[in-house]
Amino acid sequence: MSVDREPRHRLYCHCSVCQRVYGQPYADVTILPAAAVSVPENTRITFDRYKSPPAIRRGMCPDCKTPVVGFMTYGPGLRLAYIPATAFKTNPPETKPMVHLFYKTRQADVEDRLPKIAGTIASFIAGTPLVLGALFSRR
Ligand SMILES: [Zn+2]
Repeated sequence: MSVDREPRHRLYCHCSVCQRVYGQPYADVTILPAAAVSVPENTRITFDRYKSPPAIRRGMCPDCKTPVVGFMTYGPGLRLAYIPATAFKTNPPETKPMVHLFYKTRQADVEDRLPKIAGTIASFIAGTPLVLGALFSRR
């Protein structure tokens, strides 16, 4: 898999699916237009949804069982890729995380100055500017 640009949107997600998929208390995830990401035809990444649609199609590495990339479609031609921050060669990426989402299901408190959004609906609302920003960002 290759990514043709550095991410400009990044967040922490404490939802139960991320906790399960990442095997960590929360995910540190970047958001990019899906067009910036190429997955080879013969990829061994295995894609699955962990909730009923609409849900992120999460791609896992079959060897290390860790998330590689997730794709979410928001509308015709509106697709985003969710990529773990650890995947970037400038690690951590230049872009700092902007918010903690789904904080209600956190496994532990986090001591930082970022906004912490507890509930499901509030997390979708708080995440929307990042989603829109990533969907319509120019390089
Ligand atoms: Zn999550």
